[in-house]
Amino acid sequence: MARFTLPRDIYFGNDAIEELRNLKGYKKAFVVTGGHSMQKFGFLDKLEDVLKKAGLEVQLFTGVEPDPSVETVYKGAEAMRAFQPDVIVSIGGGSPIDAAKAMWVFYEYPEKKFDDIKDPFSLPKLRQKAIFVAVPSTSGTATEVTAFSVITDYSTKVKYPLADFEITPDIAVLDYALAQTMPAKLTAHTGMDALTHAIEAYVAVARSPFSDPLAIKAIQWVFDNLADSYNGNKKARERMHVAQCLAGMAFSNALLGICHSLAHKIGAQFELPHGLCNAILLPYVIKYNSVVSMKDYAEIARSLGLPGGTDKQLTHSLIEAVKALNARVGILPTLRENGVTDELFNAHIDFIAEQAQLDPCTGANPRGTTPGELKKVLQCALDGSPLNF
Ligand code: FE
Repeated sequence: MARFTLPRDIYFGNDAIEELRNLKGYKKAFVVTGGHSMQKFGFLDKLEDVLKKAGLEVQLFTGVEPDPSVETVYKGAEAMRAFQPDVIVSIGGGSPIDAAKAMWVFYEYPEKKFDDIKDPFSLPKLRQKAIFVAVPSTSGTATEVTAFSVITDYSTKVKYPLADFEITPDIAVLDYALAQTMPAKLTAHTGMDALTHAIEAYVAVARSPFSDPLAIKAIQWVFDNLADSYNGNKKARERMHVAQCLAGMAFSNALLGICHSLAHKIGAQFELPHGLCNAILLPYVIKYNSVVSMKDYAEIARSLGLPGGTDKQLTHSLIEAVKALNARVGILPTLRENGVTDELFNAHIDFIAEQAQLDPCTGANPRGTTPGELKKVLQCALDGSPLNF
């Protein structure tokens, strides 16, 4: 039996935050956010105001760092236990929302530790104490609708990718005003992350007739809107906020593939942003997977109106279209051009390939891999050489 899980409600549009005024029957809201941007742009005040109007007592937890740590999560969970909220609201980029998801688990189950919940789908039943609301400010990770959260243990350098439908939020709020505040570079990186989510979901092993249409629509909207969004077009930014969410609904259920496995490892090793890593790798991953997924890639290309009479030509067109989109949003196409020296690359490539082989996303990739094959993909991403098999 297969399962398809999404939040109960998705509020979207201008001033969608206002919808939280209708939260009825709750007493206390615990609000989790990151640095200063939500405060600076006035969204935190607005959220607090709306929650108070709904009759809720509000407590803030601010300062969740990028790539949130185990310590921050435990600290937040402790603050939740002291305050006893029945609503958890996370607002900001992927990091505070991911952190709040993990805090939620340890709030409801104080006796648990990360090691107890690190296996996919091993979480105990949540919502015994609180429901979860997510308000994203970036257009990429889609953590507001996914079953995932990534927390880092900096002492051991281990990343815990939590995966369970228990942490799929109850309410996602896509307020278009928040998406207008992203700097251009962040818009480019997060947008290419969203495109990668959708393309990987469309060929992943757990894809379904429920995830496919979401992935296709997301891909179409990213191609139609990312460049304009990058250039600050308001309408395009709104559409990207929706498109990344559609992609999230698809990949939360269909899972991802080796583009993400490799991006996770090169991002950590070379300190490059997640979306940038995906953007560089995606053309080569499509080529690699085309041995088994050419029909599906051709389908994507057809839905985009790309040229080609055969599946092979259409797949080639899709690869070229991804590269062209990268160029339009200022992304340099190779690791080398993004500051990774040959020396650094050669020192880490074996480790990266071995670790990527073990990444949970690898199991969902349509084509099987070996560390040796992953190394070939990485080599192409380093210098832009063509991938041949
Ligand atoms: Fe991603």
